[in-house]
Amino acid sequence: MPPAARAAYDHRVTADRTGVVVVGAGIAGVACAAELARAGIPVQVRERARVTGGRMASRRFDGRPADLGAAYFTVSHPDFAVVAEEWRAAGLAREWTDTLVAYGPDGRRELSGSTRWSAPRGLRSLVEHLARELPVTHDRLVLSVEPGPRVDGRDCAAVALAMPGPQAALLLDPALAAATRAVTAQQWSPALAAVLRFPQRRWSDFRGAFVNEHPVLGLICDDGDRRGDAAPVLVAHTTAEFAAGHLLQPTAAGPAIEQAVRDLLGLPEPAELVHVHRWTYAKPTAGGDGTYHLDDDGIGLAGDAFGKPRVQTAWLSGRDLGRALVARLGG
Ligand SMILES: Cc1cc2nc3c(=O)[nH]c(=O)nc-3n(C[C@H](O)[C@H](O)[C@H](O)COP(=O)(O)OP(=O)(O)OC[C@H]3O[C@@H](n4cnc5c(N)ncnc54)[C@H](O)[C@@H]3O)c2cc1C
Repeated sequence: MPPAARAAYDHRVTADRTGVVVVGAGIAGVACAAELARAGIPVQVRERARVTGGRMASRRFDGRPADLGAAYFTVSHPDFAVVAEEWRAAGLAREWTDTLVAYGPDGRRELSGSTRWSAPRGLRSLVEHLARELPVTHDRLVLSVEPGPRVDGRDCAAVALAMPGPQAALLLDPALAAATRAVTAQQWSPALAAVLRFPQRRWSDFRGAFVNEHPVLGLICDDGDRRGDAAPVLVAHTTAEFAAGHLLQPTAAGPAIEQAVRDLLGLPEPAELVHVHRWTYAKPTAGGDGTYHLDDDGIGLAGDAFGKPRVQTAWLSGRDLGRALVARLGG
C-alpha cells in the first residue's frame, strides 16, 4: 500500500473507533489480522521490527537464509493442516523429516515422531505469505495501551497484543486489570540460537538432534538439510539455563556453543562463521487457559503462551482471537 493510502487507512482504523490495532507481526498477530480483514473489519498491524515473522525468524548470511528461531513446525490440527498445504502449494514449505536423533548420557538413539516441516526460504517466508495482503507497518514500536482502548494515544475498537506476555506487560496500563493479570500469569524461558557455518559438511548421519542433560545444548539442526541446499550450516539452540547466564552478552557465548557442537558431533574444523541470536522470551513455561484472552476492556492477547510453544499453537491462538473479535464487533 502506498504511504499516503496507508496513512488514510490507519486514520480510519483509529479515528472512528471501528478498527482493530494488532500489535506484533508474528504468526499469531498475522493470523488474527487475517480473520478481521476477511470479515471486513478495518485492521492495522504494527510491528517494531523491520520485518514480519517474529520468532519464525530467518536471517541471511552472505545471501543465504538460516532459521534463527523456530527450528521447524509440526501439524496436528486440521485447520492448520490447510494452512500448511497452502504453503506447500505456494512452494514455500515442505515435509522435512519424521526422524531426529537424541544424544544423552546413555549415548545416541534415533527418535521417530511427527513430521517436521521446513521452509526452503526460511520460516519467516511463511508468515510473510500469510501477511501479503494485510496492512503491516514495520519499524513501529507501540509504546502504550490504555483504557478506551487507546493505542499510543489514539482510540480504536479493540487491541490485539500478539506477543510474549512480558513484552505485552511493557505496554499495558495497569488499569487494564484483566489483561495485566493474564500477561503476568505467563512465565517464559530464554534461549540462544547460534548459526555455525563450517568449511565442509563433516556430518552425515543426522538431520537434527535433541541434546539431553547437556550443560550448553538443547537442539542442533542441520540447516542445509532442512533447507534442501546442503549448505554446511548447523543451527544450535542452547538450554534455558545456559542462555540465562549470557543474556547481557550473547555474542560472548559463541565459542562455548561452537565447541560444544564440535565435541558432540566430532567435527575437526572450527566454524568459519558463528552468529549468536538472543531470545529473552523464547518459549512459554506457563500460560493461559483457552486459546486466547479477550476481555471487556477490548484487550485481546494471543500467542503460543496459550498452549505448547509451537508455531501451530500461535497460529490457532491468533486465528481464534480474530474470530472472537469478529463476533464481538459484528463483522
Ligand atoms: C529458539 C526457538 C526455538 C523454537 N523452536 C520451535 C520449533 O521447533 N517448533 C515450533 O513449532 N515452534 C518453535 N518455537 C516457537 C515458535 O517460534 C513460536 O511459537 C511462534 O513463532 C510464536 O509466534 P507469535 O506470533 O505468538 O509470537 P512472536 O513470533 O514472538 O511475535 C511477536 C511479535 O511482536 C512484536 N512486538 C513485540 N513488542 C512489540 C511492540 N511494543 N510494538 C510492536 N511490535 C512488538 C515482535 O517484534 C514480534 O515480531 C521456537 C521458538 C524459539 C525462540
